[in-house]
Amino acid sequence: MQFFNSASAQSVWRGYYYFKDNKVLYYEQIDKNIYYGEVLGSENNEYEVTIDISKPKRSTCNCAHAEGTRRICKHKCALYFAVFPEKADEFMRMVEERQEENEKQREKLYVAVKKYVYSLNKQQLRDELLWLVYNSGEWVFEKFVRDNIER
Ligand SMILES: [Zn+2]
Repeated sequence: MQFFNSASAQSVWRGYYYFKDNKVLYYEQIDKNIYYGEVLGSENNEYEVTIDISKPKRSTCNCAHAEGTRRICKHKCALYFAVFPEKADEFMRMVEERQEENEKQREKLYVAVKKYVYSLNKQQLRDELLWLVYNSGEWVFEKFVRDNIER
């Protein structure tokens, strides 16, 4: 299991950028699966971070988000990526692959949606359009009004 699987997506992302921005000032291995490091926080304060690779939830950090909890904060993720830079690359590759997969999926769905839309008759299109304009959020509604009613 990946260390960062127990972290929120936001913590992993921020940790990734902390690592890339060289905010991990220092680290050392202190036991078989345990690393200690100092990570620069957003207000230039330094946090003391310990990560346990075999039991991620036992990792510690003295930031407000993680102290006294089992949360995997961005500092723990940053330290993890500093110790295992290949995992940072792997994480980024995983994100990119997922994006590509999503895009492919969307393209496939677009073809299916287009086919469906072309199969509708005039009345069905009117109903569908009205529903979409009213239910797709304020931005869509206001744009529709600006483009078609108020001009
Ligand atoms: Zn932290």
